[in-house]
Amino acid sequence: MSYKRVLIKLSGEGLANKDKRLAIDYELVEKFAKQLKVIIKRNIEVAIVVGGGNFWRGTSAAKNGIQRVRADYIGMLATTMNALALQSGFENNNLHCRVLSSLTMDPKVCEVYINEKAKKYLKSGEVVIFAGGTGRPFFTTDTASTLFASEINADAILMGKNNVDGVYDSDPKFNPNAKKFEKITYDELLEKDLRIIDTTAASMAKENKIDIIIFDINEQDSLLRAIDNEVPNTIITSKK
Ligand code: UDP
Repeated sequence: MSYKRVLIKLSGEGLANKDKRLAIDYELVEKFAKQLKVIIKRNIEVAIVVGGGNFWRGTSAAKNGIQRVRADYIGMLATTMNALALQSGFENNNLHCRVLSSLTMDPKVCEVYINEKAKKYLKSGEVVIFAGGTGRPFFTTDTASTLFASEINADAILMGKNNVDGVYDSDPKFNPNAKKFEKITYDELLEKDLRIIDTTAASMAKENKIDIIIFDINEQDSLLRAIDNEVPNTIITSKK
């Protein structure tokens, strides 16, 4: 399928450079910017939801005594930090980019999310980064991805994972015989309790009939090849 408008999910962890102990790998951001420029030139509109796991995860913080709601707001702020860092990296590569946040931030920091505004920016060829997840605790940025993809009528969600290239019937890191699915339905995913995305995200994507393509963000030119369906992946869909 050739896409008109896609939503790319970048996990926070995937942005980090563990060797250099950096929260954000600037070389990687530059690689993304270069690929996105090619994608935008092909008149494909690009929205991004970014996670915050390189800085903070609400559930882990809650285990350490920070009350869950507050821990989650800190997580949402972490996604906003990533969004702003991505924006700078993109702009340094002459890629026009807007950050729209679900959390009301001071307007000097970024813009507030309004659906019409997001669509207007997308139509004019700007990359739109959604910061702050859904803006509510107890959710994840996977769920924010399905929510925003539904709100902006994206053709699909391209979900870049960190060192996982699709959906397996068991964890390939522990089971060398794990079987990879080329395609799987949301029903099967939920029934088999495969946790590649959380169940809230899976249910919403199923309801709204949005395909999610799982691929490894660390593959060479992963974004470009995901757009062309040339990267190893699994398609999660409502109907096979
Ligand atoms: N978060 C939240 N509501 C949302 C999205 C995110 O509370 O709608 C918080 C939550 O604490 C989460 C953190 O932000 O752990 C970072 O997001 P996520 O774990 O989805 O990031 P990723 O794993 O993709 O890096």
